Amino acid sequence: MRLSNYFLPVLKETPADATIASHRFMLRAGMVKQDSAGIYIWLPLGFKVLKKIEHIVREEQNKAGAVEMLMPTIQSANHWKETGRYDAYGPEMLRIKDRGDRELLYGPTNEDMITDMFRSYVRSYKDLPQNLYHIQWKFRDERRPRFGVMRGREFLMKDAYSFDIDADAAKLTYYRQFVAYLNTYARLGLKAVPMRADTGPIGGELSHEFLILAETGESEVFCHKDLVDMPAPGHFETKDELEAVFNERTSLYAATDEKHDADEFAKVPADKQLSARGIEVGHIFYFGDKYSEPMKAQVTGADGKNVNVMMGSYGVGVSRLVGGIIESSHDENGIIWPKSVAPFGAGIINLKSGDTEADAACEDIYQKLSAAGIDPLYDDKDDRGGQKFARMDLIGLPYQLVIGPRGLKEGIIEVKIRATGEKKNLSPADALNFIISEFEGV
Ligand code: ATP
Ligand code: MG
Repeated sequence: MRLSNYFLPVLKETPADATIASHRFMLRAGMVKQDSAGIYIWLPLGFKVLKKIEHIVREEQNKAGAVEMLMPTIQSANHWKETGRYDAYGPEMLRIKDRGDRELLYGPTNEDMITDMFRSYVRSYKDLPQNLYHIQWKFRDERRPRFGVMRGREFLMKDAYSFDIDADAAKLTYYRQFVAYLNTYARLGLKAVPMRADTGPIGGELSHEFLILAETGESEVFCHKDLVDMPAPGHFETKDELEAVFNERTSLYAATDEKHDADEFAKVPADKQLSARGIEVGHIFYFGDKYSEPMKAQVTGADGKNVNVMMGSYGVGVSRLVGGIIESSHDENGIIWPKSVAPFGAGIINLKSGDTEADAACEDIYQKLSAAGIDPLYDDKDDRGGQKFARMDLIGLPYQLVIGPRGLKEGIIEVKIRATGEKKNLSPADALNFIISEFEGV
């Protein structure tokens, strides 16, 4: 992409109402624009990151055997009345009436709708297990939308819903999602810790939230330090393997404030006790027949008897993650994107647009990086160098190639690694190979 063709409305001033780094940088880098409280326009740069996160979440869900579908944003109130949640949900739910006075709502979650869908098709234990997910916008009329996309009113969520024949099978599905979540966050460059959590309005008995630690996090958390740096488990299939990962990660203490048990926490060695703040980036629930019972979502078991299907649901805050990743990866100059979600792989800065040699060298490397799939952003604008450097640092692409007539006379261009600030003077060919090799396996 050539910057002269792109829409990147970078702001010089820090918007006054943006109190945390991710919110500030997302506004300044032209990623989002607030349209009304907690409702955002995703500008091209922000949209690109959102899609990259969505893609990784999708790949890991597919690997874990979940099947993608799409449910509508607008739901009939009937499903919710059947489960008793229509009244229970409260003012966070946006209730709408159509022209025929029928009650609708903008979905804050989809347990009720999918249970209704499921019961109309599935009759036999032979059709189980099933795990269906979608990545869809939700609306919750939050009392206090804040921190930009982190606590929005309209936000993008991946939500999966599982159906199993009994509690044992359902727990295995829960473990599989648990492991998929660990792999997902690791690919996003995050250290997310699974913690015992409250089930809130979704309900149920077994529940974990995944939190990334950050001073600006809204949740208070307590955990064993060693959990924070545990690597991604990788992919597993068998019950024993999945259960082993689950047991390994849950044997060390980790709980959100609501589930915190001070006596139990005191048993963690003092130098391993971590009390911190965290951002909730995912939440998984096993709730058995909480919805299948009132909705009579039953299948015939092997013994010919009808049983309620046992269910779980599994949410990832896709749009919140854009902010969450920035909270955990930035410096005073701007964002530092992990390679896996960077909106562009590298930025090319032409120090003297209009200079024949500089233009030709930039054009050449732009073509070659594009052909190699790096998806570069070429700053071909006619701005001052200082302005170009600041803008490139702000938007946080992992690599910058700085190209100008002076360096070219000596046959070199400068490569800057955004995360460390390290600079290398390389020939254009070496610079190209360096960047391509850095993206191998990403
Ligand atoms: P919170 O405790 O932050 O209000 P929640 O527990 O109500 O979240 P869930 O119902 O578990 O949220 O939703 C699944 C995921 O969706 C959460 O883990 C979070 O990442 C994301 N999410 C929830 N509410 C919002 C919101 N208002 N804005 C952005 N993302 C959200
Ligand atoms: Mg939650």
